[in-house]
Amino acid sequence: MKTYKDLSPSLRTIMTPGPVEVDPRVLRAMSYPILGQFDPEFTELMNETMDMLRDVFQTSNQWAFPIDGTSRSGIEAVLVSIIEPGDKVLVPIYGRFGHLLVEIAERCGAAVVTLEKAWGTVFDPEEISAAIGREKPAIVAMVHGETSTGCVQPFDGIGEECRRVDALLVVDAVATIGGVPVRTDEWLLDAVIGGTQKCLSVPSGMSPITYNARVEAKVLRRKTIERGLRDIDAAVPTVRPVASNYFDLGQLQDYWSPKRLNHHTEATTMLYALREGLRIVLQEGLEARFQRHKKHEAALVAGLQAMGLTLYGDPTCKLAVVTCIRIPAGVDGEAVRAMLLGSFGIEIASSFGPLKGQIWRIGTMGFSCNQKNVLHVLGALEATLHWHGVDISTGKALQAALAVYAGEATPC
Ligand SMILES: *Cc1c(COP(=O)(O)O)cnc(C)c1O
Repeated sequence: MKTYKDLSPSLRTIMTPGPVEVDPRVLRAMSYPILGQFDPEFTELMNETMDMLRDVFQTSNQWAFPIDGTSRSGIEAVLVSIIEPGDKVLVPIYGRFGHLLVEIAERCGAAVVTLEKAWGTVFDPEEISAAIGREKPAIVAMVHGETSTGCVQPFDGIGEECRRVDALLVVDAVATIGGVPVRTDEWLLDAVIGGTQKCLSVPSGMSPITYNARVEAKVLRRKTIERGLRDIDAAVPTVRPVASNYFDLGQLQDYWSPKRLNHHTEATTMLYALREGLRIVLQEGLEARFQRHKKHEAALVAGLQAMGLTLYGDPTCKLAVVTCIRIPAGVDGEAVRAMLLGSFGIEIASSFGPLKGQIWRIGTMGFSCNQKNVLHVLGALEATLHWHGVDISTGKALQAALAVYAGEATPC
């Protein structure tokens, strides 16, 4: 019989845009005993998780709960629950994840209209508002922080324009929640999707979402009756039921409400992890956490620039939690990543599509975002590039980063 070794994953320094390292308190939370899904002790944990999510999303929405599945499960749940076949959905695209929104919206039967921006830049919010005014879509779906390009899209005026034409504004904040400000209510975002394995520093496997009464109204209009039949109110024959059971927000919110109508079996262990991860986020404090991400970004950027490396993307819209670097000419980006992993135990990311082979991406997210990791990645990258014969300035990167940490250099 074939035998297998004990499971013993290596301890890595994970400097990618997810999954990132997890606080040991979260890992400990995942080893606690199982509770039944209707056990009052467990439903209390569910309620506390909803409360903490409202704080993290900066919202007073009634609905804030996780979808079980990776972050795209949250995106699918929101889109499949609000898009009725034929609805016009406007998607401004400035990187890979905008294309994901298009793909999911099309599968929901949307008539998708796109706007595109060159990768490495973002839209002037007025361009998006003008398109909303022109197209009058039912829904606008867009990405807040593009992990593929390391850019962050400002929202000034977009929420107001959506209200003006009565469009719902859906935002993928998977990469940003818990790392950079996501002000759901202030920015008039109707539905927001977060991720666990990025700045919240919880393992992959849940997607926290929030949505307001405007979204709920559309969801309820489409709600199927509990008998499991598509028994839609005859008075509104044009309303189509949600094409997914698993992702039907109407059923999910009944499960997360005091009614506790059975839908799925909540993922006990992941819920423990999310609750502990959120508790740690709020204990640190949101604004302090955003500042921490900016500080380590500043040290990392100072180090990379002191080495003579060139950052990718428009610096005016740089996302604090992902730093993209142009791979220097003449070096194999994958050989460098392999040496970082093999010799230093450090993982950094490559990129997708048109940027494949062109840039590396270094994440500074959540628990991975700390001084030890930033200094470790800078030292290792310098040594690795030198080893590969790349012409860089040696001996400067760590000094530049240390100067930022000592408060001697102004953060970017
Ligand atoms: C990571 C990411 C996703 C997808 O997350 P999965 O957990 O892999 O499904 C979607 N959008 C953005 C912006 C991301 O960074």
